[in-house]
Amino acid sequence: MHALPPLPYAPDALAPVISANTLSFHYGQHHKGYVDKLNSLIAGTEFAEVPLAELIVRTAGKPEHVEVFNNAAQAWNHTFYWRSLRPPQKSEQVPLALTQWINAGFGDLAALKRELANAAITEFGSGWAWLVLDGETLRVIKTGNSDNPLPLHLKPLLAIDVWEHAYYLDYQNRRAEHVHAVLDRLINWNFATDNL
Ligand code: MN
Repeated sequence: MHALPPLPYAPDALAPVISANTLSFHYGQHHKGYVDKLNSLIAGTEFAEVPLAELIVRTAGKPEHVEVFNNAAQAWNHTFYWRSLRPPQKSEQVPLALTQWINAGFGDLAALKRELANAAITEFGSGWAWLVLDGETLRVIKTGNSDNPLPLHLKPLLAIDVWEHAYYLDYQNRRAEHVHAVLDRLINWNFATDNL
């Protein structure tokens, strides 16, 4: 059985960028729904006791396990996404250790944010934008639907959810406006640094 991890902050902690209404639905309905569905799919099967990250890698790309993969990956992705965000703060502080990686990979923080925004805005349909460590290099990638970097042997540092359920109550179809607000005000650079 996989548990739904608690949110790392109160449901209104990301307002006004992400409202309590959006966060409550996203966590309490969508994220919880993936965890519940996963548990019902794996109960009594070979996958019942497999840790979540291992389950994702084992079922990736296997048509016969696509439903387990989708729900396992979405359960994992959302837990990672909540931790990629933190309440809005007046000034942006990026730990020096991460700044060095960012400067080596992208030139500067503004360039990294432009790449993340571009990935998040141009992902067609539902999906995710990610900052990942690929060997010794930082990269920005985007994935469709439930896909995540683990089966690609990339180490995720940050995730941005661009499914419509992540922003539609607050921004309707204005995904770019939502993405820029998240990038400018909510990114938890300490979490990304801890993932290095
Ligand atoms: Mn979502």
